[in-house]
Amino acid sequence: MDYPDTSLRHLQFQYHSIIELNKKLKIYNKEVNIFHTDIISTLVAINKQYDIIHLFSYQESGIQLTYLRDKLVQKYCQENKINWIQSQRDGIVRGIKNRTGWDKNWYTTMHSPMIENEYTLQAPLQLDNPYPLSEVMIVTFLNYPDAYQPAAESYAIKYLQTFISGRGQYYSKIISKPTESRISCGRISPYLSWGNVSIKQVYQYIYGAGKKAKAANEKQSFVNILTRLKWHCHFIQKFEVDCSYETKCINEGYELLPHPLNAEYIQAWENANTGFPLVDACMNCLKATGWINFRMRAMLVSFFCHHLYQDWRAGTYHLAKLFLDYEPGIHYSQFQMQAGTTGINTIRMYNPIKQSMDHDPNGIFIKKWLPVLNNVPTTLIHEPYKMSLMEQEIAGVIIGKDYPFPIIDITKAGVAARKNIWGHKNHELVRKENKRILATHCR
Ligand SMILES: Cc1cc2nc3c(=O)[nH]c(=O)nc-3n(C[C@H](O)[C@H](O)[C@H](O)COP(=O)(O)OP(=O)(O)OC[C@H]3O[C@@H](n4cnc5c(N)ncnc54)[C@H](O)[C@@H]3O)c2cc1C
Repeated sequence: MDYPDTSLRHLQFQYHSIIELNKKLKIYNKEVNIFHTDIISTLVAINKQYDIIHLFSYQESGIQLTYLRDKLVQKYCQENKINWIQSQRDGIVRGIKNRTGWDKNWYTTMHSPMIENEYTLQAPLQLDNPYPLSEVMIVTFLNYPDAYQPAAESYAIKYLQTFISGRGQYYSKIISKPTESRISCGRISPYLSWGNVSIKQVYQYIYGAGKKAKAANEKQSFVNILTRLKWHCHFIQKFEVDCSYETKCINEGYELLPHPLNAEYIQAWENANTGFPLVDACMNCLKATGWINFRMRAMLVSFFCHHLYQDWRAGTYHLAKLFLDYEPGIHYSQFQMQAGTTGINTIRMYNPIKQSMDHDPNGIFIKKWLPVLNNVPTTLIHEPYKMSLMEQEIAGVIIGKDYPFPIIDITKAGVAARKNIWGHKNHELVRKENKRILATHCR
C-alpha cells in the first residue's frame, strides 16, 4: 500500500471486488480474508495456526519492489518447507530469453478450454487474523466515487456485454476521440488489471461474438480489440523479462541524454495548469474518473517528455496512481515508447493544439473538464490565450488570472525536442542497444 505506484483508488477497486467475491463464495462457505500487513507477517501468522503446505498465487509481473517481495516469499517458503505454486497468467511466460514461438503459444492458450472452478461445501478454517483492516480504512475504501468505473467481476461482464451488443460498433473509428471513446472503447482495462477477469475470458467472449457479427464495421471492431488484448500481454511479457524498465531507459543509450528537472513544469502538468486546454482537461478528467483513452495518454506523456522536456521517470508514478487500470507491464513500456527511449519505435510527438483541433474540434471534452473555459468561443477554445481582452471579459475568463498562459512556446519546444531526441538516434550506444532489444523482445 505504500509503494510509490499505489493509490487509494486502486485499493478501493480491489476492496469492492473482494466484497463481491465474498458474496459469491458465501454459499460455498468460503471467503477471502484481508491481512493488513506485509506478506511475511501474514504467512507467519497463518503458519502459527496451521502448517502451511501449499501457497498458491499467480505469477506476478510487477515492479522491482514486488520482485524483491517475491524473493522474500520464496526464501520463507524454502525455510518452512512450503510448496509455492505460481500459476501462469494470460499466456505470459516466465524465464524466456527471446520471443521465438511466443505468438503461436499465446493464441494456443487463448483458444484452450476455460477452466471451470469447483467448490466444496466444506466449512471454512477458523482463522485468527491479527491484522484486520481498521474501521477507518474500511470506511475510506467503501467511499468509492461514482465517477470511477464500478469495481467487481459482474461489472466486467456487463461492460463486455454492452461492448459486443452495440457500444463497440464504431470502436476503431473513434478510438482517438477523448469524449466518444469513453462509450465506444471496451472499458475492460481495470477489470483486467486487478484480475476480475482474465485475458482469456475476455478474448473468448469477444472472439465468440465476432464469429456471429454480421456488419463489417462490427467484425472489424472485434478483430481490432482482440489484437489489443495481445498487445496487453506482449507488453507484460517484456516487463516480465526485464522489470528494470520501471526506472531505467529500455535503450540504455538514452540515459546519456540529460533532461534537467523543472519543478514548476512538473507541478503545472500534474495540477492541470499548463495553459494547454486539452492537456489540462485530460489531467482533470483522469483525476475525476481514472480513465482517458490511449491517444490522450500518449499526448500527456509526449507533452511531458518532449515539449516540457522532462525525464520520463518524473511522470510515471503520477499517472500510475491516477489510472484506475494501472498495469505495470503496459504502463512503463508505453511511457517509454511515448518518451522515445526504447530506440526501436518511431518517435511520435503529439502537439496538444493539433490533437485538440483534430479530436475535440468543438471543445466539448475541454469544456467538461475545464469549466472555467465554458464560455470561450469554439474557434478559440484550443488556444484561449489568443482571445482579446474584450473576448476574455465576455467569456468570463481572464487569461493569466482564471486560467494560465501557456507555460511554454509549443512550436519552439517541439523544434528543440525533435533536435535533441532525433539527433541522438544514431548514437553508437543507442544503435548497439537496438540490436539487443530486437533480439530479446521482437523475435
Ligand atoms: C502512457 C500510457 C500508459 C498506459 N498505461 C496503461 C496501464 O497502466 N494499464 C492499461 O491497461 N493500459 C495502459 N495503457 C494502454 C491503453 O491506453 C489502455 O489499455 C486503454 O486505454 C484501456 O481502455 P480500454 O479497456 O477501453 O481499451 P480498449 O481499446 O477497449 O482495448 C481492450 C484492452 O486491450 C488492451 N490494450 C488496449 N490498448 C493497448 C495498448 N496500447 N497497449 C497495451 N494494451 C492495450 C487493454 O488491456 C485494454 O483493456 C497506456 C497507454 C499509454 C499511452
